[in-house]
Amino acid sequence: MRKERVTDDVYVFTSTVYAQVTAGAIVTSEGTVVIDTLPFPRETREMLDFLRAESKRGIRYVINTHHHADHVYGNYLFEEADIISSERCREVMRKSGEKNLAEAKAQTPELAEVSLRLPNLTFPDKMTLHLGERVMRLMPLPGHTLDGIGVYLEGDKILFAGDAVMPLPYIFWGDRVMLQETLRAIKEMNLESIVQGHGEVLLKGEIGETLDASIAYLDTIYDKVKAKLAARTSKERLVNEITLESCGGSPIALDGLVKQLHRSNLLRVYQTLTAKSR
Ligand SMILES: [Zn+2]
Repeated sequence: MRKERVTDDVYVFTSTVYAQVTAGAIVTSEGTVVIDTLPFPRETREMLDFLRAESKRGIRYVINTHHHADHVYGNYLFEEADIISSERCREVMRKSGEKNLAEAKAQTPELAEVSLRLPNLTFPDKMTLHLGERVMRLMPLPGHTLDGIGVYLEGDKILFAGDAVMPLPYIFWGDRVMLQETLRAIKEMNLESIVQGHGEVLLKGEIGETLDASIAYLDTIYDKVKAKLAARTSKERLVNEITLESCGGSPIALDGLVKQLHRSNLLRVYQTLTAKSR
């Protein structure tokens, strides 16, 4: 795990084991707020040990940005904290969490001791958390998934974006157009930095360009899949022929994992387009 201090009171923890997934922490005079909890207990414990030592007031709240395993499996280790999420996020975890965890355990021995802990404080759309002197605004950022939220920290102007912002936008479980709208809205927020769900923290000077590139990528994959469909190219062929590079993406981001994400994105667009024409 890699630990980075973004401002005086804000930390980001990045997994060195799984897809550079991130967790964040905001330390206040009345305790700490953690955003997402990493998938593997060893790294979550490392983060927990550091944060418990950092503030005598302990960890008060954990916020889940969305229901995906790599962001919520560490929840159960934060015994002292309330867990906050959107209502939708809790609902998806309640319905499919146990089954997915059982499957994940069968594949990944490191997860053997994990138990599913659902959020116990939920909200329908937005909420504001006041703790110590800090104000955190929780808001919907759908598109990667439908239940996604972000956490905007006033003062520092940092957005913890969950997987709404990633080195490559990822829509396999979500909605392409919805994610584009979300990315445009984030662009208007005048942020100092963005903590992405995976990968490096984005700094002020690179935010606009990065978000524009993501929005353009989502247009490009749509246009290219549509053109291939018009030329009656098979699903298998189009996934191989439309390369990430030809859509403006860097194939080395997230240790190369982006190539898989790109293929899944193409399949998702293919599904959407073929469903429409039926
Ligand atoms: Zn993720």
